[in-house]
Amino acid sequence: YPACSKLLVLCTLSSGSLVAYSESQTDVSNTSVKIDEKDCKKRRVVVLGTGWAGISFLKDLDVSTHDVQVISPRNYFAFTPLLPSVTCGTVEARSIVEPVRNIIKKRNGEIQFCEAECIKIDAANKKILCRSTFDNNLVGNEEFSLGYDYLVIAVGAQVNTFNTPGVVENCHFLKEVEDAQKIRRSVIDCFEKAVLPGLSEEERRINLHFVIVGGGPTGVEFAAELHDYVQEDLVNLYPTVKDLVKITVIQSGDHILNMFDERISSFAEQKFSRDGIEVQTGCRVISVSDKEITMKLKSKGEVCSVPHGLVVWSTGVETRPVVKDFMGQIGQGRRRVLATDEWLRVKGCADVYALGDCATINQRKVMEDIATIFKAADKDNSGALTVKEFQDVIDDILERYPQVEHYLKSKHLSDVTDLLKDPEGNARDEVDIEGFKLALSHVDSQMKNLPATAQVAAQQGAYLSKCFNRRQQCEDNPEGPRRFKGSGRHQFHPFRYKHLGQFAPLGGEQAAAELPGDWVSIGHSTQWLWYSVYASKQVSWRTRLLVVSDWTRRFIFGRDSSRI
Ligand code: FAD
Repeated sequence: YPACSKLLVLCTLSSGSLVAYSESQTDVSNTSVKIDEKDCKKRRVVVLGTGWAGISFLKDLDVSTHDVQVISPRNYFAFTPLLPSVTCGTVEARSIVEPVRNIIKKRNGEIQFCEAECIKIDAANKKILCRSTFDNNLVGNEEFSLGYDYLVIAVGAQVNTFNTPGVVENCHFLKEVEDAQKIRRSVIDCFEKAVLPGLSEEERRINLHFVIVGGGPTGVEFAAELHDYVQEDLVNLYPTVKDLVKITVIQSGDHILNMFDERISSFAEQKFSRDGIEVQTGCRVISVSDKEITMKLKSKGEVCSVPHGLVVWSTGVETRPVVKDFMGQIGQGRRRVLATDEWLRVKGCADVYALGDCATINQRKVMEDIATIFKAADKDNSGALTVKEFQDVIDDILERYPQVEHYLKSKHLSDVTDLLKDPEGNARDEVDIEGFKLALSHVDSQMKNLPATAQVAAQQGAYLSKCFNRRQQCEDNPEGPRRFKGSGRHQFHPFRYKHLGQFAPLGGEQAAAELPGDWVSIGHSTQWLWYSVYASKQVSWRTRLLVVSDWTRRFIFGRDSSRI
């Protein structure tokens, strides 16, 4: 809605009473009016975010029964898995984005969109406060608020710098389309600077040292893209400095791609070693300046500094401030991400749902946290906890990560409860930490099913829109669909994530894939599978054609190295 218009939107509150809603400055007045039966049932749904979760929710939502308002600082959807390809010009930025208004148009314009960011969620009064993203005097930094009957939070997450000094000022990130465009320009800058006259060989070498912090899928894919770009295109354009280029991947863990199957991780390491990409594992970056990156080798405790031309920081994500603030309001301040139940409802808050990265647990962090909680509970360092201490640990874990409950209490509960008994079935006095870790490793492997990925976000969006579409039917039959009669508790099946596999492009027209059923596929054929899956997953025929034509253009003419 235009922020200044005095538009009256007719709607109902969740109680069903009729009200007129004054859109201009947030207020909900209590004037009763006559409206037709269909409008009477319309609920105001406010969706925050136009990423994977938000767009997938909107695509299937029945707009005839909902009044939908979308708020996002981005007026487009970005196909994030192809962002690394944008950094080197393999595909163009515009080929991987779809304007939100194109998506809305397909829904007959019944969805309203506002380019603004939500800065506060007031769940007690069912309102959100937003600020427009424009900074000219006409619209200024105008703030406005909106009421809702249902709020869907799908704002994703932001880059996590772990408060490392100098990262914000001196590193590139790879999270948004603008980040990828910036990296593309900076890579060319490094080459242009390296061939300027009057530089020593050492200075040229430093300009051409590309450092990637983080050996996860994004960091590895970027390193592979950059290597291909250099070898296939740039060495021909900058022949005098071709031997001075160096790419380094810094990883704090023992292996890169450690969330993938071991075979993929070791294949990637071997391939990188053959390609001359240096992988430094067991290193934690402690600061970054405009000239060098300083890190600590975990094993020896040594600190060393390496000069760089460009650093890309890709170490994971953290909760956005607006979500953190909201978590504080609803008593989830101690948690890392918004806790939802299995129906994606935010715990402790009526009519608010959360999807995607803002509500998905980061498995690695959870496991690290759990290990820390356990270590802290083992005060005498005996390697064992009393049963009471053990139960407190479990309570603490569940308090922080309620999503884990499903795994602890379902088929893996036996692994954990078995620890409380000896082989004869008698209660133990103490619980062995190693045994607990073993049980957790089962939970860990199960939690692989809940990564913060586009796949999870999209499936959650689709699931929630189905729930919304069936809400009326469920309200008419409060006992729930026939299959739930008897238990009569739930109206919908809980959300279950279906893992369809994941890819890791490794450069040189080779990719690795972890497919359902623990299948692993590596090599050139997997790269072709990657091309077909990513082409098919595009949100529109327009972007599909653009992406495929970019790939074709790259095969025929190579990548464009102009700095525009
Ligand atoms: P996002 O897609 O990030 O969307 C968040 C939306 O919220 C955006 O529209 C944003 O503008 C909006 N927003 C932000 N703040 C506010 C606010 N205050 N108010 C309103 N709106 C707001 N996943 C895979 O499954 N496979 C891959 O190959 C893959 N590759 C990736 C490569 C890269 C480089 C990156 C960065 C991510 C990749 N991911 C991949 C992860 C995937 O992109 C995320 O898991 C996914 O985007 C999460 O979806 P989301 O809807 O939660 O968040």
